[in-house]
Amino acid sequence: MSSIADNLANVLTSIEQASCDSQRTANSVQLLAVSKTKPVDDINAAYLAGQRQFGENYVQELASKAKALSEFDIIWHFIGPIQSNKTRLIAEYADWVHSIDREKTAKRLNEQRAVNITPLQVCLQVNISGEPSKSGVTVEQLDSLAAFVDACPHLVLRGIMCIPEKGNSEPSFVKMQSLFKQLQQKYPTIDTLSMGMSGDMATAIACGSTMVRVGTAIFGRRD
Ligand SMILES: *Cc1c(COP(=O)(O)O)cnc(C)c1O
Repeated sequence: MSSIADNLANVLTSIEQASCDSQRTANSVQLLAVSKTKPVDDINAAYLAGQRQFGENYVQELASKAKALSEFDIIWHFIGPIQSNKTRLIAEYADWVHSIDREKTAKRLNEQRAVNITPLQVCLQVNISGEPSKSGVTVEQLDSLAAFVDACPHLVLRGIMCIPEKGNSEPSFVKMQSLFKQLQQKYPTIDTLSMGMSGDMATAIACGSTMVRVGTAIFGRRD
C-alpha cells in the first residue's frame, strides 16, 4: 500500500503535468485534499507532507477535526450539502464553503459568521448538468444568487463549484468555464473555479479549474 505522502506527491505531479499540457502554470491550480470519513491521523500525515487545505462534507466531522487540529495552520473547506439548521458550525469552523446554492443558507452563514474573524470565502455550487437529484443553483438563478452573496458583508464571493454527471464531466466543465469567465467580469473577488476530483482532475484543469478536490487518490478508498 502506498503512503499518503507518496499519493500526495503523485497527485501534485499529475496536477503539474495537466497544467503544463494546457499551457498553464502549475501554481494556477490549487489542491484541496478531501479528507471526509478519514481519521485525523490521515490529515496529520498529509499535513506533515506539506498539504494545508482540507475539504470535509459533514458538518459534525468538520467541527470535530477542526477542533482536534486547531494548533495547525489548516484552511478548512466545507464542500458537502448544507442543511440550514447546520450552518452555525460551518460559520464557526470553515474558512471556505463551496456548496452554497440558495439565499437562505447564504443569509444564515452571513449572520452567524463572527465579525472579528476573516469573512467566509464562498463558492456557489451550480447544478451544471441540470440533473433533478443534484444540489446546486440552476444556471438561470446563478446571477441573482451571486449578487445576493456579493452583498453579504461577512461572505466573500470567490467563485463557483460543480459536481458533474458521473462519467461525463467534460461538457459540464466547459460550461462552468464560460460561466466563471462571465462572473469574473462582474465581480473582481472571483478567482476560484472549483472542479475536478480524483477521476477527472486532468480534464478539469484543461477546462480552467483553479482548485481540484481530491480524496480517493490521496487517502485511498472510502468504505
Ligand atoms: C468526496 C468528494 C470529492 C472527492 O472525490 P474523490 O473522487 O474521492 O476524489 C470532491 N468533491 C466533493 C464535493 C466530494 O463530495
